[in-house]
Amino acid sequence: MALNSAMDLSSLTLVMRGVCTSMIDAVDDFTHADQAIGDGDHGLAIGRGFRAANEFIGGQDHADVGGLLEGMGAAILMSMGGASGAIYGTLFRRGGHALVGRKIFDSEALAVFLEEGLVGVCERGGAHLGDKTMVDALEPAAAAARYSVGNPISDALVVVAEAARAGARSTTEMRASHGRAKALGDRALGHVDPGALSFASLIEGMCRLAGEVRGSEAHS
Ligand code: ADP
Ligand code: MG
Repeated sequence: MALNSAMDLSSLTLVMRGVCTSMIDAVDDFTHADQAIGDGDHGLAIGRGFRAANEFIGGQDHADVGGLLEGMGAAILMSMGGASGAIYGTLFRRGGHALVGRKIFDSEALAVFLEEGLVGVCERGGAHLGDKTMVDALEPAAAAARYSVGNPISDALVVVAEAARAGARSTTEMRASHGRAKALGDRALGHVDPGALSFASLIEGMCRLAGEVRGSEAHS
């Protein structure tokens, strides 16, 4: 396997710690998005969930990639609350569970994580593409990850992050069919969905941090 084509468990652990920190640093963006079309608590929820996930990561050694991601999901589920706590908790638990036993996070593992997570999120929340939820960023991200299987993880993450960001942006043109924004009807138009925005930030954080970890490994 070529260097940089995948992350080992310690690299993924570092990346996910950084992702938790970057999500916590961005909570004001999520608060503002949810103030526009929801009840304004999405930033608080993300802060709670990703602080708990970060504590979980730092609190113990992890057996494998699946255990790390699944455990983050359990921590998120227990701490975050709200619709998004169930959604993010399910994404990480279900996606992580599909990777139990793996020591390497490569582009194929990324695709499995997002695809399985998407199945779990849709089963749990019943949302479909176009309903103005996090699914509008997650589903194109999962498709982009499948398309990128076989490419180095850092390249796959660039493509997946672009897909997630474009998906999140597309929610500004949508009316909501789920969650609190449903009651707003046309007034939700012109505003990004808070959960789609936070999911795109999550993947962009993974992409940026994977590049940094890779860079530091390349120079060490
Ligand atoms: P709450 O809606 O309970 O206040 P948050 O504000 O933390 O929770 O999260 C709102 C986000 O959760 C929405 O922007 C949307 O992306 C996501 N969401 C809500 N319901 C669903 C659902 N059924 N399926 C997928 N995502 C959902
Ligand atoms: Mg809310």
